[in-house]
Amino acid sequence: MTREDVAARLAELADQAEACRNCALGSTRTRAVFGVGNPEADLMFVGEAPGFHEDQQGEPFVGAAGQLLTKLIETKLGLKRSDVYIANTLKCRPPGNRDPLPDEVEACKPFLREQLQLIKPRVLVALGNFAAKLLTGSSLGITKLREREFKMRDGTPLMCTFHPAAALRGGNAANGIAADFEKIKAVLEVLPAETVDPTEQLGLFG
Ligand code: URA
Repeated sequence: MTREDVAARLAELADQAEACRNCALGSTRTRAVFGVGNPEADLMFVGEAPGFHEDQQGEPFVGAAGQLLTKLIETKLGLKRSDVYIANTLKCRPPGNRDPLPDEVEACKPFLREQLQLIKPRVLVALGNFAAKLLTGSSLGITKLREREFKMRDGTPLMCTFHPAAALRGGNAANGIAADFEKIKAVLEVLPAETVDPTEQLGLFG
């Protein structure tokens, strides 16, 4: 798939999320918050669910937690927000920012699954308990999961860290997320150079 094909399919899925009523959240939220960023990103983040500001703007991580995430991406990784892809476990805001319910996570899973298949990140980062539990399949909490190394079925490294909202409250999570972003940087730095498919190269002249 070309970059344009991926972007077009992501846009189609975003429209489907806007129309989705597979769980009750579709009727209470203002806007679906599908995801944002580079459709060919090496690095993809998965958070929990939209909050107030995200629900209003239709974009993930634009409130206070989002500002911290953006700052970590820029200062710790030396990247721009637009270089990475950012999505959530749930595409719709739970009323009052309550925790996602199991049936909501289940109903929303197909959107995240296809985002992962399309974007094919080379490093995946789960932000907080809900994304970490969903992506690892473990019932352990984030404090334990962030100390372990995971690989998705296709071999993509999956790293777990605290949710930026928890980091904003200070303490362990604030120091922990900063240390984890150093680890993310180290993993990105040793990614092998992407090889160009020779059949595509030939196609350029064929
Ligand atoms: N928290 C999340 O998990 N996602 C957002 O988009 C905003 C806050």
